Amino acid sequence: MNLSFWEKEMAAEVCDVLITGVGIVGLSTALELKLAAPSLKIRLIDRGILPSGGSTKNAGFACFGSLSELADDFETMPENEVFRLVKKRFDGLQNLRKILGDDAIEYSACGGYELFRTGNDNSLKRSLAILPKMNEFMLELCGVSAVYSDASHQIDSFGFNEVGQLILNKLEGSIHTGKMMNALRCKVQELGVDILMGIGITGIGLQNEMWEIASSQNLKFRAKQVVIATNAFASQLIPELKVVPGRAQVLVTSPIPDLKVKGTFHLDEGYFYFRNVGNRILLGGGRHLFRQAETTYEQEITREVQETLEDLLQRVIIPETNYSIDHRWAGTLGLGENRFPIVKQLEPGLFAGVKMGGMGVAIGSLIGKELSGMVLQNR
Ligand SMILES: Cc1cc2nc3c(=O)[nH]c(=O)nc-3n(C[C@H](O)[C@H](O)[C@H](O)COP(=O)(O)OP(=O)(O)OC[C@H]3O[C@@H](n4cnc5c(N)ncnc54)[C@H](O)[C@@H]3O)c2cc1C
Repeated sequence: MNLSFWEKEMAAEVCDVLITGVGIVGLSTALELKLAAPSLKIRLIDRGILPSGGSTKNAGFACFGSLSELADDFETMPENEVFRLVKKRFDGLQNLRKILGDDAIEYSACGGYELFRTGNDNSLKRSLAILPKMNEFMLELCGVSAVYSDASHQIDSFGFNEVGQLILNKLEGSIHTGKMMNALRCKVQELGVDILMGIGITGIGLQNEMWEIASSQNLKFRAKQVVIATNAFASQLIPELKVVPGRAQVLVTSPIPDLKVKGTFHLDEGYFYFRNVGNRILLGGGRHLFRQAETTYEQEITREVQETLEDLLQRVIIPETNYSIDHRWAGTLGLGENRFPIVKQLEPGLFAGVKMGGMGVAIGSLIGKELSGMVLQNR
């Protein structure tokens, strides 16, 4: 493609902050920067025509921790670190709701349930063992008592099969992922942030105290400060950022008349998750059963994972129900050796906020706030 004089001129115009990645983290960083310093010239760049990582592909769970996952964490992390993680997710969700408003993101306080399969006594026992201390922690954090409770009496009303016990987290909920991202993008654009899609960043280097950013379209950009918000793809640009991609596959059923399943649900330590979207079921997960194949940047769906999801749907979630599968897709998670995100200054004027794991909806807006604080402090 031959670029015009005008296109090259506009790209070469120095901006104060260039952010790569138009996911929840990149957009939240831009929003926070503009709110704190309206005169900043900010440019957001993404290689997808639409955001192409997790932010528009996710399941829309507004969740901060199911007990079996937390029980695992308590065994591998110091107790205060586990509490810090839960607080970050909880605060992040409050922040997202405050910034965008519940109507705009279609927030539903539907509750988050964890299913324990009949016979999975070990996981249940470990989860029940931490229930009192999690309730104590949540009471201190937000003043609500008995956040986690036994909800096994609801198993039949949901119509589940092979499920022995149910635990409810009454403060969890769901959002409409597409509406959340739309609301965030509109807010950022209203504040005058330049968003360029379909341009892949291929290199970032410092020249005469200015960051020079090379792109796949041969456009060269210049910026005083740069934020990497490319999550799973971060080490493609900066190898020292140890982020490993994890493909996460999802399916959505056709509408099911009189669907009994309402809310957000986790199963098998969070490796499977499902919720209702109106009268459809959205189901995702299964990556843990095909770990090697699912450690990939590819976003093609696979027969193996999709069949695993369909089997679970038919046997456990909506047995003896007629439906078809209307939608299937995959997104990419940014994973690493622990559950904490990487949020730091890499070099003077170069920042990263990546490795959001499976909780970017919960923590993304707060990470944007942290990154914006770092950028402003180091101007
Ligand atoms: C299927 C699925 C279900 C999920 N469910 C939930 C959930 O229910 N609740 C929850 O809290 N979290 C969930 N997550 C996780 C959550 O979606 C992510 O943690 C979050 O979206 C990460 O946001 P981000 O802004 O850091 O990165 P992303 O949204 O991944 O954005 C990164 C962007 O960087 C762009 N990019 C990459 N490389 C380059 C480059 N070189 N140049 C330019 N642009 C580049 C990509 O195109 C992408 O748009 C889920 C994720 C998936 C995939």
